[in-house]
Amino acid sequence: MIRFDGVGKTYADGTVAVERLDLDVAEHELLTLVGPSGSGKSTLLRMVNRLVEPTTGRVLVDGSDIATQDEVELRRGMGYVIQHVGLFPHRTVSQNIATVPRLLGWDRRRTAARVEELLTLVRLDPALHGPRYPHELSGGQRQRVGVARALATNPRVMLMDEPFGAVDPEGRRSLQEEFGRIHDELGTTVLLVTHDIDEAVLLGDRVAVFSQGGRLEQVAPPVTVLTR
Ligand code: ADP
Ligand code: ADP
Repeated sequence: MIRFDGVGKTYADGTVAVERLDLDVAEHELLTLVGPSGSGKSTLLRMVNRLVEPTTGRVLVDGSDIATQDEVELRRGMGYVIQHVGLFPHRTVSQNIATVPRLLGWDRRRTAARVEELLTLVRLDPALHGPRYPHELSGGQRQRVGVARALATNPRVMLMDEPFGAVDPEGRRSLQEEFGRIHDELGTTVLLVTHDIDEAVLLGDRVAVFSQGGRLEQVAPPVTVLTR
């Protein structure tokens, strides 16, 4: 579904962030991208929603070069979750999740039903369904809201950059497991960046291993990565 065709990125200052690579991601696949800090993972992810433009090659979605697509349309079909999700501080949990549906003109009833569904999906405590604000939540709860917000319009693709990186270790494990369950349930195509090999192996259908200099070393099922 997503094809990296000779994709590479060298920033204006000469930094080679991603070495030319070819890679296919299947529909419904959860591909984890793992490697040390600076190995080009975030850059590669951002080339999928055009926050970064490749210097060589093309990114294809369903066979079509995304460089020719409208950026707004492209991003509408892709959820994006980063380490600190950046919820709107003056909007409640529900209002945060409802942001994009409302912008798209969904009516209140449809939006409210979707918000309830998402809160259940990400297992947010029902006590938080009321008018809670982001500052009243723990880090783990905020990330859950961020995931729910990104899923609000049922994107076919989720781009996740260290989504659980800022969550405390106990909370992180439960979030990882729940995200694995959500992925099984929804079948969204997911690219998930992490520097945590355990997370990459736990969640990935396949694991893409990057090394310093933005080189893709291997792409393999988790078992293979573990035994090497
Ligand atoms: P990772 O996500 O694996 O930590 P990044 O994609 O963030 O890696 O960064 C890859 C390399 O590109 C690093 O050397 C980083 O410093 C560099 N880099 C990232 N963004 C820019 C930028 N906007 N301009 C120049 N260099 C950048
Ligand atoms: P990430 O956590 O995604 O790796 P960073 O915290 O490294 O991102 O970088 C934050 C921002 O700074 C990003 O927009 C990235 O593109 C940019 N950036 C990272 N490294 C460099 C660099 N060496 N020169 C210029 N910009 C950079």
